[in-house]
Amino acid sequence: MHTLFAEGLRKRYGDLPALDGFDLTVPAGVIHGLLGPNGAGKTTAVKALATLVDVDEGTARVAGYDVRTRPAEVRRRIGLVGQNAAVDEVLGGRQNLVMFGRLYGLAKADALSRADELLGGFGLTDAADRPVNTYSGGMRRRLDIAAGLILTPAVLFLDEPTTGLDPRARNEVWNSVREIAGRGTTVLLTTQYLDEADQLASRISVMDHGRVVAEGSPDELKRQVGGERVTVTVSIDDSLDEVARRLEPAVVDHDARTVTVSGGVKDVLMILEKSEISPEDLQVRRPTLDEAFLELTGGDR
Ligand code: ATP
Repeated sequence: MHTLFAEGLRKRYGDLPALDGFDLTVPAGVIHGLLGPNGAGKTTAVKALATLVDVDEGTARVAGYDVRTRPAEVRRRIGLVGQNAAVDEVLGGRQNLVMFGRLYGLAKADALSRADELLGGFGLTDAADRPVNTYSGGMRRRLDIAAGLILTPAVLFLDEPTTGLDPRARNEVWNSVREIAGRGTTVLLTTQYLDEADQLASRISVMDHGRVVAEGSPDELKRQVGGERVTVTVSIDDSLDEVARRLEPAVVDHDARTVTVSGGVKDVLMILEKSEISPEDLQVRRPTLDEAFLELTGGDR
């Protein structure tokens, strides 16, 4: 059984389709990335799956329960960590988690023991009684995520969990996310960061204009946008613009004196030879996820 399933979800805000035939299938216990530029519909998709937004059309199930007809069952099985911190700044980490436990209906003693368990798991025991406004960005985000895990959800929705964090704090959060998935929770991670999806997700759905435009493992996506990138370094004697014109469409870097094209290295060599251009250097590589992403989403933003 798939833990997350969505088929043909549509949601309009006025004339604007925020979801325009969104499909998703995620098996249990994996980290699935939902990647897309601003306004692609990621947050709306998460809200639809988390029963926070009513869709106009389509079917969605979470842990086997239909989000429209069994919303209470769905809510009991999910954790949602949004873009804005939900924790109270003045309270300590432990007090915050106990408060969330109580909100979720745990008895006081149960809320306390769950809080301590989570603080331990997220390396926050020493800071448990300090006010949250003394926490570092990474500690705070880990507390946010812990708050989404009070009831050990089947599915955790993480909406851009590392926005604004420095590299070290991002790493801490990434490790926590891996641990969560390692314990069997399915994680749907929305992100605009390609390296985050590359690092964490076993599969990625690339969204644009309210629907999935490509899906696969990070490697599959890189392959899907096809060809190799060939970067030709041009010697001083050759005109950079002339080389670029012959290899068109190409990306020119005037400082590095390089011309980069997508396509087969054989074709590039043939054109260079015909034009009697002998490059100083020639490198072939696969596209980065950044390039794949820009290509898949039309690169128009
Ligand atoms: P971001 O990365 O910026 O969070 P996103 O991919 O999560 O973007 P959504 O927030 O789902 O995108 O928004 C999709 C589209 O729907 C956007 O054009 C947005 O302006 C619009 N939209 C979202 N929520 C509402 C709302 N409550 N009312 C009207 N329009 C909305």
